[in-house]
Amino acid sequence: MIDFRSDTVTKPTAAMRAVMNDAPVGDDVYGDDPSVNQLEQYAIERHGFESALYCSSGTQANLLALMAHCERGDEYICGQQAHNYKFEGGGAAVLGSIQPQPIENNADGSLDLNKVVAAIKADDFHFAKTKLLSLENTIGGKVLPLSYLKEARECVDKHNLALHLDGARVYNAAVKLGVDITEITQYFDSVSICLSKGLGAPVGSLLLGSKALIDKARRWRKVLGGGMRQAGMLAAAGQHALEHHVARLAEDHDNAAYLAEQLNTLTGFDTSTFQIDTNIVYANVAEHIDLKAVAHALKEQNMLFSPGKPLRLVTHLGVTKQDIDSFIAALAAEI
Ligand SMILES: *Cc1c(COP(=O)(O)O)cnc(C)c1O
Repeated sequence: MIDFRSDTVTKPTAAMRAVMNDAPVGDDVYGDDPSVNQLEQYAIERHGFESALYCSSGTQANLLALMAHCERGDEYICGQQAHNYKFEGGGAAVLGSIQPQPIENNADGSLDLNKVVAAIKADDFHFAKTKLLSLENTIGGKVLPLSYLKEARECVDKHNLALHLDGARVYNAAVKLGVDITEITQYFDSVSICLSKGLGAPVGSLLLGSKALIDKARRWRKVLGGGMRQAGMLAAAGQHALEHHVARLAEDHDNAAYLAEQLNTLTGFDTSTFQIDTNIVYANVAEHIDLKAVAHALKEQNMLFSPGKPLRLVTHLGVTKQDIDSFIAALAAEI
């Protein structure tokens, strides 16, 4: 299968499976799993935080961050397009009694900091208490500039808010910018990172923060049923991903640029209005093209994509340049 639906479809490599097979394990709820402990320690040192928590998913890591930063009746400011507002089932409100205050994202994925400041509520019992600004990087595959992150930090410091990063794909941002990951993470009080997307682990995310914040998050993780037992086999895969699959994200970015270029050669496909920085390609598709029918036909040829308009295609370690050529040829034959 050549699968462009998401970078979540990546499967563990043979080397990763070997590491998983050999991983020492214990009961992580007792703090006894050596592989989980090793991953958390690695994450602390690698990203420059006091503490780290291995979580079952990015959704869980984001929810734990929100519940650790905010209490019942507090609010967080985020983008209208933020994953932790739009695509996580309203978890902060459902499970944390935390109110989101979404703000329209700029075209580049950033939030206008003047609008953020305007949305901060006064200390008045009519209002929820504004506690946190949550950003996302990459967002829709777009990289937020470092200068913007610095401005966001200055803004939250001035207004006494904490700053969270939904960094599900933050390594894609670092690789694209050619900077160490800490150049990005340094601006944030907490960061969530997906190990199970482009990095290629089968399961798992990290949450990074201060000791006090992660202690709180660890408590909520147990409450939410996220206390896993012999999770070391999964954690070992996550550490292998961080050690071996970061630099290769550049290939996914090159492949995405190549895919965009090839799509533009087909009549009815146009990526020109989209900012394609990393591994996510968006394209407008002419109205007359029945993408559902095309997706059905391509599935018969072992190629998968989600037939949405705009079209969204994701590159990852399971997609090669030759796969893109095969896909473009098959697409050209069907439209
Ligand atoms: C995928 C994703 C998440 C959630 O991760 P899951 O592991 O799928 O729960 C959070 N934020 C962003 C930006 C994502 O892309």
